[in-house]
Amino acid sequence: MPVDARVEVDTHCPYCALQCGMVVRDERAEATVAPREFPTNRGGLCQKGWTSASLLTTPGRLTTPLLRERRGAPLRPVGWAEALDHVALRLRELRERLGPDAVGVFGGGGLTNEKAYLLGKFARLALGTSKIDYNGRFCMSSAAAAGIKAFGVDRGLPFPVADLAEADAILLVGANVAETMPPFMRHVRPAADKGGLIVVDPRRTPTAEAAALHLQPAPGTDLALALGMLHAVVADGLLDHRYIAERTTGFDEVWRIAAAWWPERVERVTGVPAADQRAAVALLGQARNAYVLTARGTEQHASGVATVSAWINLCLALGLCGRSGSGFGCLTGQGNGQGGREHGQKADQLPGYRKIDDPAARAHVAGVWGVSVDELPGPGPSAYELLDSLGTPDGPKALLVFGSNLAVSAPRAGHVAERLESLELLVTADFVLSETAAVADVVFPVTQWAEEDGTMTNLEGRILLRSRAVTPPIGVRSDLDVLQGLAIRLGQPTHRFPTDAATVFAELGRASAGGPADYSGISYDRLRAGEALHWPVPAADHPGTPRLFLNGFGHPDGLARFQVVDHVGPAEPPDPEFPLHATTGRVLQHYQSGAQTRRVPELTEASPEAFVEVHPDTAQRFDVHDGQWATVTSRRGSVRARVRCVQTIRPDTVFLPFHFPGAQRANLLTNPALDPTSRMPEFKVCAVRLGAA
Ligand code: SF4
Repeated sequence: MPVDARVEVDTHCPYCALQCGMVVRDERAEATVAPREFPTNRGGLCQKGWTSASLLTTPGRLTTPLLRERRGAPLRPVGWAEALDHVALRLRELRERLGPDAVGVFGGGGLTNEKAYLLGKFARLALGTSKIDYNGRFCMSSAAAAGIKAFGVDRGLPFPVADLAEADAILLVGANVAETMPPFMRHVRPAADKGGLIVVDPRRTPTAEAAALHLQPAPGTDLALALGMLHAVVADGLLDHRYIAERTTGFDEVWRIAAAWWPERVERVTGVPAADQRAAVALLGQARNAYVLTARGTEQHASGVATVSAWINLCLALGLCGRSGSGFGCLTGQGNGQGGREHGQKADQLPGYRKIDDPAARAHVAGVWGVSVDELPGPGPSAYELLDSLGTPDGPKALLVFGSNLAVSAPRAGHVAERLESLELLVTADFVLSETAAVADVVFPVTQWAEEDGTMTNLEGRILLRSRAVTPPIGVRSDLDVLQGLAIRLGQPTHRFPTDAATVFAELGRASAGGPADYSGISYDRLRAGEALHWPVPAADHPGTPRLFLNGFGHPDGLARFQVVDHVGPAEPPDPEFPLHATTGRVLQHYQSGAQTRRVPELTEASPEAFVEVHPDTAQRFDVHDGQWATVTSRRGSVRARVRCVQTIRPDTVFLPFHFPGAQRANLLTNPALDPTSRMPEFKVCAVRLGAA
């Protein structure tokens, strides 16, 4: 094909929250991608991004709706009208029989802002249900809750990611960015080259290999480590007294707890040498510019909010937050993990990061939607509680799933699968027959990222336009079309559920106006012009807010809040029956449940199956052998995984990736103990035993 026949569109990767800049070339028979210069990726892509175009033509791509008449019957292809009519009829019948909360909705952190917004509106208006939540509850909710407590606002990175290049020291806690978002390493490399990178992780990951200092705590003890480091800050004379007096409240109460956590005591709990705790604190405290960044490893715990709060306390004690050149941030995981938690698909939320139980927020959003405030339901249950209640007497009897493969990704996945089976109606929108779609009653085939317009909000709160770059296959429609098709059939006026992404975005902007995440000054035209717009952007001539908190934090008095927290340990500690910790995570080649990346040949060849990382001493103790299949068992289920003996993991811990389906699902093991505030399940630690398969 001659070069001038190509259509090239600047867009962003379909996967993680780094949202690397790429160019999609539509070469008719197949699309290709290439990296482009963008601040988050600086011209790089990881293997997932490089191979993402093959998803568009993946074998098994769904191009017609599928429907099964009854449980046990096969899915059969049907037309769009029949599928939409069928679902709407069943939803109406359920609503009339059992009330609006008989239907639940489950969204995803990969959905565009427009989809997340319209999904929340659909649930509240077309269904009238309070029972909507999304898989971001399993991702960022503890970090978000801790950020709101401390700073009054949750934006993962309250500064541009490129600022990290000026850092002398960076503490990365529970983040394996060298594998999960490799181009991010370009931002931490300068600090690493200066000997200032510190990594906290129970595994010696490729990220930890790049660090000057690797702190390797036992899973579930990060909070104790943060307390010990705070103790060392005070004991070693690094406390920023002036900053604490001028910009924070609550230090004295926090110190009353941390005073009892001297580093030698913390060493006994965590296994991290006291000298290393002090060395880490010295690196941070003596740096001109320093950052503390957390991610899922430290957040996905039943004490996740307290743990993140402890890291924020450390950062505040050193005077790092809300200063140019230093700061605290949480690394968002899913592609739209930031925007997806701002616009109303959360159980307790309305657009603009408003609370659904706030009368002023309800009045504003009801006004934008043209309905009475009384029509808006109140808050509903969190994601796991919603899934756990499916099919029970008080729980939903139908579930609509958009952008989530929860048969693989939900905690205690075997139980969740049983709950899905107990439903009268399961509906999914997907581009392939994912493990969740495969057990659905109706599947709507939908467009993918390069086939539609939409906005994403990346890990630094910057809103990005992903423009349509290729023509979708005949037969597929966007999620927005699905929502409109169902809404009309449920009695809603057509104009209330637009299908044009720019129109939805303009309405989202009005709904968010005045809220913490204010998008009202952003338009597709500004995004197409390449403006770097970090929220809040409250007016069409507002330049955006790349650095939050420089002039004060989000609380009414402008001060950050220290949070009083203490170590509690894992919800399920090891015992004689289940003597090991299991922790889960990601590998370089796969993304989340693997629904996309397991369909890319290059990625599955490199990473075809589940494995369990085991220290050689542990393998010997449990009589399992490198390269052989083993069984990992918790109180909730067993997983088959191939043994990888490595010296890089603690002998009391095993690690499994969570991307694989069926009997290799790591989430068959995981513990759904929930954080009391964020309702985050404890994905990152549970008690297991190991045996030959
Ligand atoms: Fe970039 Fe993440 Fe995509 Fe990799 S998966 S190319 S790091 S956005």
